Amino acid sequence: MKRILIAVLTAVLLPISAHSAVDKKSFRVVIDPGHGGNDLGTHLRNGKSRVTEKDVTLVLAREAARQLAEQGYDVYLTRNGDDEVSLPKRTAMANKLKANVFLSIHMNSTPQVATGSDTPEGIETYILNNASDASSKRLAHLENAVVSPDQETDSAQQLDVALILKDLRLDANLSESKRLACALQKNLVTETTVRNRGVKQALFHVLLGADMPSVLIEAGFLTNSNDRSFALSSNGQAAIGKAIVKAVDQYRTSTKGTPQAKFELSSCKVN
Ligand SMILES: [Zn+2]
Repeated sequence: MKRILIAVLTAVLLPISAHSAVDKKSFRVVIDPGHGGNDLGTHLRNGKSRVTEKDVTLVLAREAARQLAEQGYDVYLTRNGDDEVSLPKRTAMANKLKANVFLSIHMNSTPQVATGSDTPEGIETYILNNASDASSKRLAHLENAVVSPDQETDSAQQLDVALILKDLRLDANLSESKRLACALQKNLVTETTVRNRGVKQALFHVLLGADMPSVLIEAGFLTNSNDRSFALSSNGQAAIGKAIVKAVDQYRTSTKGTPQAKFELSSCKVN
């Protein structure tokens, strides 16, 4: 019964998940500047001034959004000021807007006090990982938490359908997210001088609620002086924005491409 249900649901879901290539004007990009308000993210002293992740992510997100809009894309930010926005609200916004992709921008850090140039450095792009046992359990817990009291009284089968549907959507989005992450990472290291740390997976809460391909970019370490100077410079911000535009372009056009073209774009190694 369950197998038949999966087959039927796959057939229904696939046309939704495998977006046909759309023109820039109707390709909706939601950019999420990490943190905001009382949530500073990583923060440290940089000479006399204080650098906070929430400020850097906002500048990077605005620049990427500006460049994408200039190229004709339909772009939204989850915050455009120093606002505190909850993680579920960020993806809820993207879901409501029926975004084609969701990009969350963050800056990395190391716990060490030292903030010199020899500390860990580099750009990495994350996709959501729901493969490990621990994260699967957590994921299930989160999915169960959003079931309303009305649904609780419904039959177990209905709940099954909801969970299978959610799983299939996640699976479909995972391969698309991987393609998007590979394109982003490739362009981020080509367009910038920041070290390549590759594409990785983790259970990031901000990506959990997204109904579309979604990635989280750690655009360098604030605790590393080279990465920090790059992210704070207008040249660096422009370069990161340019890389995002090129990656979105490649991702968008590859949806129309042959399976081989799709495979090539998503054949980067995921750690
Ligand atoms: Zn962050």
